Amino acid sequence: MIYSDFNHNPGGISLAELVKEFGAPLYVYDGNKMISQYNRLRTAFPGEHVRIKYALKALNNPNILKLFRKQGAGLDAVSIHEVQLGLQTGFQPDEILFTPNCVSFDEIKAGVEAGVQINIDSISMLEHFGHHFGNSVPCCIRINPHIVAGGNVHIQTGHIDSKFGISIHQLRHVLRIVEKENIRVNGLHMHTGSDILDSGVFIQGAELLLETALSFKDLQFIDFGSGFKVAYKQDDVTTDIEELGRVISERFNTFCKEYGRQLELWFEPGKFLVSEAGFLLVKVNVIKQTTATVFAGVDSGQNHLIRPMFYDAYHHMVNISNPTGTPRIYTVVGYICETDTFGWDRKMAELREGDIIAICNAGAYGYTMSNNYNGRPRPAEVLLLDGKAHLIRKAETLGDLTRNVVDAGI
Ligand SMILES: *Cc1c(COP(=O)(O)O)cnc(C)c1O
Repeated sequence: MIYSDFNHNPGGISLAELVKEFGAPLYVYDGNKMISQYNRLRTAFPGEHVRIKYALKALNNPNILKLFRKQGAGLDAVSIHEVQLGLQTGFQPDEILFTPNCVSFDEIKAGVEAGVQINIDSISMLEHFGHHFGNSVPCCIRINPHIVAGGNVHIQTGHIDSKFGISIHQLRHVLRIVEKENIRVNGLHMHTGSDILDSGVFIQGAELLLETALSFKDLQFIDFGSGFKVAYKQDDVTTDIEELGRVISERFNTFCKEYGRQLELWFEPGKFLVSEAGFLLVKVNVIKQTTATVFAGVDSGQNHLIRPMFYDAYHHMVNISNPTGTPRIYTVVGYICETDTFGWDRKMAELREGDIIAICNAGAYGYTMSNNYNGRPRPAEVLLLDGKAHLIRKAETLGDLTRNVVDAGI
């Protein structure tokens, strides 16, 4: 694993050389790692009836979307704009699942006009949908089975107070609306959050969804969402995807026999496919020793990678400029005027001003959650594929920050 034996040359390309060519800070993605994660999932869940819908909110550069399209993936989109991005990238409408939460009915109608599969997330929208479309357009329903995965409250979606999905306890109400409005429900969905440590919890949710599925006669697919956990540090507990694949596949096949026909089995991973493939490369601007701490201040911050601050997420960091330096303890902080710590008390090879740090697991929810706070442009993105480095997005400039400003003549 990368944590004990960090690979300075992912995909055969030196990370340090990339900084010389493209500058820092820099987002780098190993496309071949993404493909191998995709194939791992395909192997764990074999069969023609299995569909992988990449959750593009994790990382939405169109080049990456094309890479996944080539592998045979579809998309999971959570806004009409993500839907449009997918269509622009060449995905067919029927390959895109639109899973919005708390959007207007107009946005859902726009999704129907675009021809994508709609996933309904509330009783109210189900009523609107039925009233407006009757059985002329099928829809999927997002069920909240109220199982709780993982330990991070920010990324749990299955708990009782969650805003996501329609509670499984409201099934009777759902069925009443479906019957009255003659709605064609062609899919059932759950997505329980992002930290499945225990496949037993996932299977418990799946079991509830399958039980629910018996109440719907027009189903074409069942979508078990995502939440597959990847390693962020050494010896991290991760989802045993192969074990999960064995159990779920067998259970799903039994279910299809009971249901009376073969249904499709859908998943919508984001993090699993792209997290470990990404690095944020940052340069050390300042080493600052205070009475209590040695800070390494870098040329990036929570504006480029917010997960450590937002989710208290652990991101492994490696000094790639001085890999054989004597290990010392550092607190790595960003340059934003706000609490902005990438990692506390990290043992790293001695850092010198000008050294480059690779921040790992920056593929998912890195660039897509970045912003321009403190008037900072976003970094460039580089994709490594088959031994070549491709610039897939230029770094922003001051012009990008003022692009939409209107001079009011004041
Ligand atoms: C975010 C999201 C996903 C992807 O979750 P990961 O933990 O990144 O795999 C899948 N489905 C839905 C509906 C989501 O909102």
